[in-house]
Parts: sequence; structure tokens; C-alpha cells
Amino acid sequence: MRKPFIAGNWKMNLERKTALALVHQLRDHLANRDTVDVAVFPPFVYVEEIARTLKGTKIAVGAQNCCDEPHGAFTGEISAAQLVDVGATHVLLGHSERRHVYGESDALVNRKVHAALDKGLAVILCVGETLEQRQGKQTEKVIGAQLTLGLQGISARDLLKITIAYEPVWAIGTGKVATSKQAGEAHAYLRGVLGGLFTESLADQTRIQYGGSVKPDNVKELLAVRDVDGALVGGASLKAETFLPLLGGR
Ligand code: PEP
Repeated sequence: MRKPFIAGNWKMNLERKTALALVHQLRDHLANRDTVDVAVFPPFVYVEEIARTLKGTKIAVGAQNCCDEPHGAFTGEISAAQLVDVGATHVLLGHSERRHVYGESDALVNRKVHAALDKGLAVILCVGETLEQRQGKQTEKVIGAQLTLGLQGISARDLLKITIAYEPVWAIGTGKVATSKQAGEAHAYLRGVLGGLFTESLADQTRIQYGGSVKPDNVKELLAVRDVDGALVGGASLKAETFLPLLGGR
């Protein structure tokens, strides 16, 4: 049985005061909650303070990206080791905004996955098709390739540290949510690909989150879908009033 995993991707939102106010609310409500795994992904500059604030709770803290290189002349980048050093346990990789706004390729995402795992970070690897790709019936081809290339060279043992997030690009931040049928088909397909790359048993143990306009009023329906093991949440993770209700969705 896979435990649901709900993660909040804050993107480039919130500032120190509002970020801390939010995590204090989460801490007060969730400190001992054990029915669902929860993680927050603040902007880099707040990771250390938020990790310290949430230390001893069951809420994990991660970063939204990391460099594929361990150290050196990479201006503006942050390494996996530096994230571990400030208390992060997770990292989000291959988010559609990284892929489509900053041009990250599957090969780069794969190098980042290796770099993160090498330093002991748990990874959420995001995949998802654009509207054009869905309309062109390319969804499976696109997400299958993103998953396969993103996981290239990953050992079975390391797969246990990876969560997959299926995030249709057309549903991210748009208010358009995938139907249960669309989510169910994509998740089942991804699990099948995992089974082919590893084993059926490992595929069964791997959590696949859905992401894309998850809100309190649609979370229950999405989490009821077979093969949907949680959610990666953007907008609704920025306020306790909209994030906390997501955590009791199953
Ligand atoms: C995301 O950023 O991964 C996301 C799914 O955003 P939103 O929930 O706002 O669509």
C-alpha cells in the first residue's frame, strides 16, 4: 500500500515573513500527522530557515531545483550537497517550468537526478505533456520518454528514493484539471513504463503524484483514482486554508 504524498511547490512566491507564517500554521496542524507524507518546496533562500523551523516534525523540506554538477564555476547554481548542508531532504526536478521556460532537456534532468541521489536527496521527478502534445495524441510517447530518459542509469535501490509527478502542462496554474479518466490513464501508463524499466514490484512501490490545479474541491476525486498516490500542488500550497484541506483528502 502506497502512502499518499502531498507536496507544495511554492515556486517564486512568498517572502520570509509570509513563508514562516505558513510553515508555523502547517507545523501546528500537522506535526504528528502520519496518514499522509507532506513536503514543502520553498525558494532556495528560505530552505535553511524553514528546515530548521520544521525540524522534528513529519513535514519534509525540499528545493525546487539543483545543479547537475557537484561544485565549481557555475554562477547562480546550487549544488545537491549545499541543499543537504542547509537541511533539505528532497528536491523537485524536471518541473515543466524548468523544462519549458528554461529549456532543461531530459539529459540535463537525468544528470540532476543522479547528482541529487548521490548526495542522499529524495527526488520528485516531474513529467507531463503540453496541450498540443495531448491533442496530437502524443501524451504517452512524451511522458514515457521523459520518464525513461529521466531515470536512465538509476538503480533499483535508488528508485525507492524517487517519486514521479505526472503534471500535464496544460493543467499547471490554469485552473484546468485533468479528469479522473485522464489522470488514471496517464498514471497507469507511467506505472507500466516503470514496470518495464525495473520490476513490477518496484513499480508498485513507487508513488506517482498528480499535479495541475489541485484544489480543496477536486483533491478527493483525484486521490480516489487508482494509481494516483498524492499530489504536487502549486497555487493551493501557498495558504494554509487551501493546503491543509488537501491533506485529509483520502
Ligand atoms: C505545480 O507547480 O507543480 C503545480 C501543479 O501548480 P498548480 O497547482 O498551481 O497548478
